[in-house]
Amino acid sequence: MSATKAYAAKSATTPIEPFSINRRDPKPHDVEIEILYCGVCHSDLHTARNEWGGTIYPVVPGHEIVGRVTRVGDHVKKFKAGDLAGVGCLVDSCRECENCKEGLEQYCENGMVGTYNAQEKDGSGITYGGYSKQIVAHEDFVLSISDKLPLQGVAPLLCAGITTYSPLRYWEVGKGDKVGILGLGGLGHMGVKLAVSFGAEVTMLSHTASKEADAKKLGAHKFILTSDEAQVKAAENYFDFILDTVSASHDYNMYLGMLKTNGIMTCVGAPPTPAQIPAFNLIMKRKSIGGSLIGGIPETQEMLDYCAEHNIVSDVEVINIKDINEAYERMLKGDVRYRFVIDMATL
Ligand code: NAP
Ligand code: ZN
Ligand code: ZN
Repeated sequence: MSATKAYAAKSATTPIEPFSINRRDPKPHDVEIEILYCGVCHSDLHTARNEWGGTIYPVVPGHEIVGRVTRVGDHVKKFKAGDLAGVGCLVDSCRECENCKEGLEQYCENGMVGTYNAQEKDGSGITYGGYSKQIVAHEDFVLSISDKLPLQGVAPLLCAGITTYSPLRYWEVGKGDKVGILGLGGLGHMGVKLAVSFGAEVTMLSHTASKEADAKKLGAHKFILTSDEAQVKAAENYFDFILDTVSASHDYNMYLGMLKTNGIMTCVGAPPTPAQIPAFNLIMKRKSIGGSLIGGIPETQEMLDYCAEHNIVSDVEVINIKDINEAYERMLKGDVRYRFVIDMATL
């Protein structure tokens, strides 16, 4: 066991503050990683403030982790000390159910173990995330990271990247498709970059007019200001696919209206309050609404390799860990271009 510096939320209403956690010594299949950068996901904020319920305090958030391997267990084959490595949103699953066998560990029938705020399967305690100096994880849940890309821009791929990559791939978005990415934040900006790289015609759907120029720089072909009724009306029956990344309550029906016949809207954004959708908004043009959770380990590795090959990283603002509470407030205001990433050297 080693005492490890971290930052934690001790309640829903108190700031994230310094905290000390114990990390286990590597077991035979474990990889110990010195964390260099950790992205700040809106899920960290939802969890720290118990917006979804179920937060176990103190909670150490952070699931966009990249760093360097410091030690490995005797049976580890994939990694050695000195390698770059990443950990995303999950650190364990049963490996025996149908979903695990298919590499869909995020949908483990017996419950996947999240990187933070989850019970370890062996009963050893609660998992602590990446707002810390190091992490120890089973090699099956550790990703290989290329040295071709800037590490701070790679960190957000571990959640924002895979959460947008997976549904775009599952619903086979590509050339000839008209795609709307709803919400230009951490997930949304990765959704734009990835959908553009897959060959789709991409429209940014945003409630912030000042993001139009950025959306175009990120590769979006069109921009719709969702608070402008005329622009929304002009987009009726337009999209084949909409990826909804919005973190706060919003009217899903407005966006369903923008789908054409057989269109699909997939939710990855997870507002705490439920949405109301009249069946008729789906029935009349055989529309579908779906959801998607991060991605499995094989697909996460595929996405990381794809991004390394295509030179895709997140646009980041690197912060000192002492500024994490201010970063949360700025994220709530939409004042981040487009992902905060903590430099762990500041811890
Ligand atoms: P983020 O960086 O804060 O981005 C959210 C975006 O939503 C904002 O930039 C804003 O875009 C839009 N938005 C915010 N408030 C809004 C409002 N009141 N009305 C309309 N639009 C609003 O958050 P993120 O890290 O990308 O995460 C987004 C959501 O995805 C969160 O709920 C998070 O928990 C969830 N998430 C889900 C998964 C999954 O596996 N499904 C994984 C990671 C995160 P505009 O200014 O462009 O409108
Ligand atoms: Zn996340
Ligand atoms: Zn399983």
